[in-house]
Amino acid sequence: MQINASRLVDNFLKLVQIDSAPRAEAEMAAEIIRQLQGLGVAAHMDNAGALVGGNAGNVIAKLPGKSDKPTIMFSAHMDRVEPGLKIKPVIRDGVIYSDGSTILAADDVAGIAAIIEAIYVLKETQTEHGPLTFVFTIGEEGGLHGAKNLDYSQLNADFGYALDSSGPVGSAIIQGPAQDKIEAVIYGKAAHAGVNPEDGINAIVAASRGIAEMKTGRIDHETTANIGTIKGGTATNIVTDKVEILAEARSLQNDKLERQSQHMRECLEQAAAAMGARAEVKIARMYSAFRLDASAPVLALFKRACRKVNLSGELIPSGGGSDANIFNANGIPTANIGIGYKKVHTTEENIAIKDLEAVARLTLELIT
Ligand SMILES: [Zn+2]
Repeated sequence: MQINASRLVDNFLKLVQIDSAPRAEAEMAAEIIRQLQGLGVAAHMDNAGALVGGNAGNVIAKLPGKSDKPTIMFSAHMDRVEPGLKIKPVIRDGVIYSDGSTILAADDVAGIAAIIEAIYVLKETQTEHGPLTFVFTIGEEGGLHGAKNLDYSQLNADFGYALDSSGPVGSAIIQGPAQDKIEAVIYGKAAHAGVNPEDGINAIVAASRGIAEMKTGRIDHETTANIGTIKGGTATNIVTDKVEILAEARSLQNDKLERQSQHMRECLEQAAAAMGARAEVKIARMYSAFRLDASAPVLALFKRACRKVNLSGELIPSGGGSDANIFNANGIPTANIGIGYKKVHTTEENIAIKDLEAVARLTLELIT
C-alpha cells in the first residue's frame, strides 16, 4: 500500500490556499466535504457553528468497516491563526514555507491532507479496515470551540488520534494540562483625587496588592499561573473605581489547578476587602487534564504502527491544550500525534515534504 506523494503535496498546497479562520471555516469545510464525498465517504456538518457564531460547523464523516474491530477516530482542525489568509506556499529544498507574509497553516492542514490521502489509498486499494470516524473541527485556535460544542453521541469512537502536535512524526502526546481562565473585576469607589481622595477607594491599588500576594509563574513542575492583562482607570485626577484582570492557571493535575485558581481568587478578594473594595472573580475551566495509560489500546496501536513504518513511537509526557483534551474529557481516549510542522503560529512556519508523507503513511498504518 503506497501513498501518492505528489497527490498529497498538491492537496496540501490547494488546502492552505483556501482561506480559513476561527468562526470562518465555511470554504474549508465545503472543500473537505466535497473531497470526502468524491471518495464515497458520507460527510456532514454539525451545528457547532451556530452555537459559537461561526459560518461552519464541525465536519463529521464515517466510513463503516469490519465490526469486530474498534472504531477509530481521526481528527484535525480546519481553522488557523492570523495572518492566515491569502497564503502563497513556496517549496524550497523539499520544505514547504509561506511567502513570508502569512503563516503556512500546516497547523493543521497537514493533518487534514494526511487523513484525506490515507482515505484515498484505502479506497484505491480496497483494503479492509475497521469502522472509522473523521472529525474536522472548527475554532480550535483560541478556545477549542468546535471540539467543545461537538455532539459526542454522534461519534461512538473507541479511541482516537488528533493530528495536531508539533512533535516529530512518530511521537505522541499522552498527557495534557487542565486550564482555568480567571476573570476578575475589582470595584473601588470613585472620588476626586485632589479634592476628596479620602472618600474614594482605588481599585488599582487593591488589584496590585492582591496580585503582589499571589504566587504566579511556575508554581511547581506541573503547575503554572499568569496574569495576562490588567485594565483600569481613566484619568489621574480620579480615584479609580474599576479594574479588570484576565489571568490563567494550568496544571497537569486537576486538583492542583483547583487550589491555584482558588488561591488567586482569595488574594484578590482579601486585598479588596481589606480596603473596602470588592472583587468579583469568575473561574472557568477551559479544559480538564488527561493522561493516557501507556498500555491503553490507543497507544499500543500507535507504537505498533510506528514500528511498521520505521518511526520511533516516542511517547511525550505533556503538551498544551488541544482538541485532544476535549475528546479525552468526553470519553474518547485520544493521543495528539506529532506531524512535524515547525515554527507554527509564525510567518516562518514550515513542514518538510518527507514529514507530510510520513504522517500520511502513519495514518494509513493506524487505519489498517
Ligand atoms: Zn493546531
